[in-house]
Amino acid sequence: MAKILLVEDEKDLSDPVRLFLESQDHLVDVINDGHDAIEKLKYYTYDVIILDWVLPGMFGVEVCRLFRQNGGTTPILMLTAKSNTQEKIKALDAGADDYLTKPFDLDEVSARIRALLRRPIALSANVLKARNLVVEPNTYRVIRDNEEVQLLPKEFALLAFFMRHPNQVFSPEALLDRVWASDSDASPETIRTYIKRLRQKIDVEGQPSIINTIHGVGYKLEA
Ligand code: CA
Repeated sequence: MAKILLVEDEKDLSDPVRLFLESQDHLVDVINDGHDAIEKLKYYTYDVIILDWVLPGMFGVEVCRLFRQNGGTTPILMLTAKSNTQEKIKALDAGADDYLTKPFDLDEVSARIRALLRRPIALSANVLKARNLVVEPNTYRVIRDNEEVQLLPKEFALLAFFMRHPNQVFSPEALLDRVWASDSDASPETIRTYIKRLRQKIDVEGQPSIINTIHGVGYKLEA
């Protein structure tokens, strides 16, 4: 049994998929709007997310990107009406694990879900640790020396990204590309501001920052 979030606005499609998955003893929540999906995912944890491409509110591919940027690790199966390769690449680039082209057989959905549920647990780390910091992407919690630290969503996303890639150097441009939405008007200066604020919140006074500045190159988290 798995807990599944199905994000699909067409009832003609979501009803049969939901009924079929429920007949296989899965728990299924259906959401029909992209923004609502992001909200739901802030508070609830699922084993698999089935995400349609075309949705009101926000496109599935953006929901996927945002969810991953915020540290979400749940396997995502994208549904797309398009069989062209570019769209599939976009889905995978946004962080989807697999995709299914409409129309599809219900048996195929359950086969894909079984495959996603078999993925090694290590890929979906629920807790990230470095030095005195613990970050829980699923619950948006940051704990420093056993005390919770309050971060803004973007600060959290930036920290979670560094924690997932310890000891790697990222230029401000690379961080913009990986952590900020492609349509945002953020600049390398934005990154500098966020790094500064993040350091103020997570570093221990009098000790070197966990986020190192590599002059002329970028930043890295010193694990
Ligand atoms: Ca749709």
